[in-house]
Amino acid sequence: MDVADKLEILADAAKYDVACTSSGIDRDAQKGKMGNTLAAGICHSFSADGRCITLLKVLMTNVCVYDCAYCVNRASNEVPRTAFKPRELADLTMAFYRRNYTEGLFLSSGVLRSPDYTTELMIRTLSILRHEYGFRGYIHAKAVPGTSPELIGALGHLADRMSVNMELPSQESLRLLAPDKSKHDILAPMRQIKDNIAEDRDTRALMRRETTYMTQVRPKRKERAFVPAGQSTQMIVGATPESDFQILNLSAALYRTLALKRVFFSAYLPVNADARLPASDAVQLNREHRLYQADWLLRFYKFDVTEIIDEKHPFLDPDLDPKANWALNHLDFFPVEVNAAPFEDLVRVPGIGVRGAKLIVKARRTASLGEPELRKLGIAYKRARFFITCRGRWAGKGADFSREGLRAQLASPIEGGRHGRRADRVSPNQLSLFDAVETSEKTRIGRVDPPDRGLPEAPRAEGRTPSGALLQDAGRAGTPPRGEAFPQGAAGPAGALPQVPEAPWPLERKSA
Ligand code: SF4
Repeated sequence: MDVADKLEILADAAKYDVACTSSGIDRDAQKGKMGNTLAAGICHSFSADGRCITLLKVLMTNVCVYDCAYCVNRASNEVPRTAFKPRELADLTMAFYRRNYTEGLFLSSGVLRSPDYTTELMIRTLSILRHEYGFRGYIHAKAVPGTSPELIGALGHLADRMSVNMELPSQESLRLLAPDKSKHDILAPMRQIKDNIAEDRDTRALMRRETTYMTQVRPKRKERAFVPAGQSTQMIVGATPESDFQILNLSAALYRTLALKRVFFSAYLPVNADARLPASDAVQLNREHRLYQADWLLRFYKFDVTEIIDEKHPFLDPDLDPKANWALNHLDFFPVEVNAAPFEDLVRVPGIGVRGAKLIVKARRTASLGEPELRKLGIAYKRARFFITCRGRWAGKGADFSREGLRAQLASPIEGGRHGRRADRVSPNQLSLFDAVETSEKTRIGRVDPPDRGLPEAPRAEGRTPSGALLQDAGRAGTPPRGEAFPQGAAGPAGALPQVPEAPWPLERKSA
């Protein structure tokens, strides 16, 4: 099997992992090295099913000794299996980067032989990228639950972000659907990553002050920061009976105790027939969407989870966003005067976001604000007007200021109604990494197979992927490659699994 075939299988197998968005870290280019990263976000392209592909999102291998009920790569499924050799994947990442196809790597994996063996493969790949090729682009690496602390430590010094997937919100659900994983195996690496990040930051802060104390503990050589962009996790929603109340409480606890940057929610997508899984495939993206809105309130609006949801109403209202729902349950809090209310009160008004509240606070220093000024500041006035006064006058004149009356005004079923399965949603003009999707006459694109499928071809003016599909980042079309030459991948014998090179660190291997 050549590298392109492996890529096709392993990129497709990785599409169910949603835990990637922007990089969250700034790092400038450096002379003699390759790449940089921007905190402002590097997700410009999305695959046909809505997943980001600006990062080369791929599995090290889809061979897996575990048998998680919800996973397409589980041991009991009969699917084509393959694995990258570390150098193949490193070369591929560089080749994609040089051709402007991607800006980094999102690396996950099935469990090949054991968590430690798999992690060694990932470390070897990232070592080649970072140390041999001097790659400074963004790398997100998944930690496999059950990996030894030494290997988590080594991986963390090579990646920018790490994540350990919670997968399911309770121990019972894990036991039912992912019997090879345990709560401890998942939480232990998360705790270690959190502690190592804090330790690394402290050490660096001390080094910058150059205290005499540091002459004893200063590292001998400059090491890469440990997971500088923090850690995240992912939970599947809808495969098990846990309520939004349980999911949001767990998320809040993870933010509080493990300092997570992000909790991703993934609406359950049936890919296997299994008696342990829900019979229906009607888990809707609407629920995932409301959970993300609630998550936003926790992270940026300083809501407490108890303000968003309670045990008596364990599911978020599908027709009302959680902030509007809070407002309707706290009508005694409103209206707030936009010319006087503190920032913390302004952000609680439906229609006023964090940015809008900041603009209001700044603008009212020099002017008294009314409807025209608020509209100019970009406030969603049509929503906000029921909850504010401007210069002492209620802006919602004529509206019924009752829970029912306001609910009728604010209820907003998510556009498109019931989204249904994510896999069924193919937007026009969005192509998968490999398929040439016929859309309209105007955007029809024929698949162009490269003459040699061993490695990506030179970039085409339209910005196509190696197999001819068009990347969605129109701004990149026709941009020149980042380098002239790229390393040639060394494809192994057909179907052979990679030989792991000797690890440069001492370790004890766990058995599977
Ligand atoms: S460990 Fe479970 S979720 Fe991960 S690849 Fe294997 S079967 Fe899938």
